[in-house]
Amino acid sequence: MATIKLQPPRGTRDLIGEEFRRHHRVIKTARRISALYGFEEWATPIFEDTRVFARGLGETSDVVSKEMYSFEDRGGESITLRPENTAGVCRALVSNGLTQSLPRKVFYAGPMFRYERPQAGRYRQFHQIGAEVLGAAEPLADAEVIACGHHIIRELGLADGVVLEVNTLGDAPSREAYRAALIAHFAAHRDELSEDSRRRLEKNPLRIIDSKEPEDKALVAGAPTIAAFLTPAAQAHWDALRRHLDAFGLPWRENPRIVRGLDYYSHTAFEFVTERLGAQGTVMGGGRYDGLVEEMGGPPTPSVGWAAGVERLAMLMERAGLTPPAPRLVAVIPVSEAEEGVALALLQRLRAAGVAAEMAYRGNLKRRMERANKQGARAAFIIGESEAARGVAQFRDLDAGTQEEVPLEAAAGRVAPG
Ligand code: ATP
Ligand code: MG
Repeated sequence: MATIKLQPPRGTRDLIGEEFRRHHRVIKTARRISALYGFEEWATPIFEDTRVFARGLGETSDVVSKEMYSFEDRGGESITLRPENTAGVCRALVSNGLTQSLPRKVFYAGPMFRYERPQAGRYRQFHQIGAEVLGAAEPLADAEVIACGHHIIRELGLADGVVLEVNTLGDAPSREAYRAALIAHFAAHRDELSEDSRRRLEKNPLRIIDSKEPEDKALVAGAPTIAAFLTPAAQAHWDALRRHLDAFGLPWRENPRIVRGLDYYSHTAFEFVTERLGAQGTVMGGGRYDGLVEEMGGPPTPSVGWAAGVERLAMLMERAGLTPPAPRLVAVIPVSEAEEGVALALLQRLRAAGVAAEMAYRGNLKRRMERANKQGARAAFIIGESEAARGVAQFRDLDAGTQEEVPLEAAAGRVAPG
């Protein structure tokens, strides 16, 4: 029989060992910190009705127009693996009839799927943590959700080297006026634009502003910014946001080039960026989306949130030498089969006390000691015939190299939980 060598699909990765531990640390930290801010965790399905993401013909974002994993299921329904989770959370808010009890603060963590060209920090299955404040129009909500994101980055030890950049996209009338000014500016130089940008010119000229194509750089640098087009209401939101960010004690800088990839943003747009990851430098991004819940069939529900790439945060942890160490076990070692029963009782007693402990399935004393050392065990309890008879164990501290006899009832107290 021919052997097939199976590999993970292109753009996906197995998370094992150090990689898993970094990944887990990011999610655990985000869960803990978001709870401090009053966020409640939701888990929504990994696949949704395609219409949750592609809501109309006007969609111009890359995510919706070229990166979605969509397929027809056996019942003929068009299904999409979620490329992001804001739309799913808004759908869930409406499906569960929760639009009457607002605001709600939602945290989530899980895999997302985008058909992208894989490279460092860019995968086809990746993971996001995210936070959304649903049903709050106040700029204080924008500032608080950003403060929560910053707190998570700081708690991970990554605040140095990650910068918060903020921008306003204004309200609909501001953006309409800005759009017209951008079209006028770029149309005069249509032939110098990159192909992508020429395509965006009429549909979504705002996206040209964040083009990464070298041809577009000079034209973008000379383009007008939205500042001159803000309505008084949009200006007030923007002023209040910056005031609140200062009150939260957050360092930030303005970047008029941030427009965000998805179509539904208004007012606040922000990113946490780093120079340490090359081209994939955005670790967290978000903004205000006032029309999305309505598009899901709910009432008008002004909302604001962010999503962060777990892989990118984990890569920053790796570079900063912040990989969490592997847990260190305590080994329980019966000298012969006759002591296995006593050893097992001790093993369970340790685990019940919150001590991570293991007993090898077989091997003599020497073999089992070797395994304990190889695994980096911090201590071993050795039980021979005489120890079993007297209800004690030899306790060996593998770091200090010391050994002493301890009664089995006192064994768990001899080692700290962990
Ligand atoms: P990018 O400009 O890097 O393509 P994006 O604007 O498409 O990012 P968002 O949709 O805002 O990203 O998603 C939020 C975060 O999720 C990003 O800032 C990034 O950290 C992460 N992310 C997005 N796409 C991927 C991917 N394909 N692989 C790994 N992480 C990703
Ligand atoms: Mg993208």
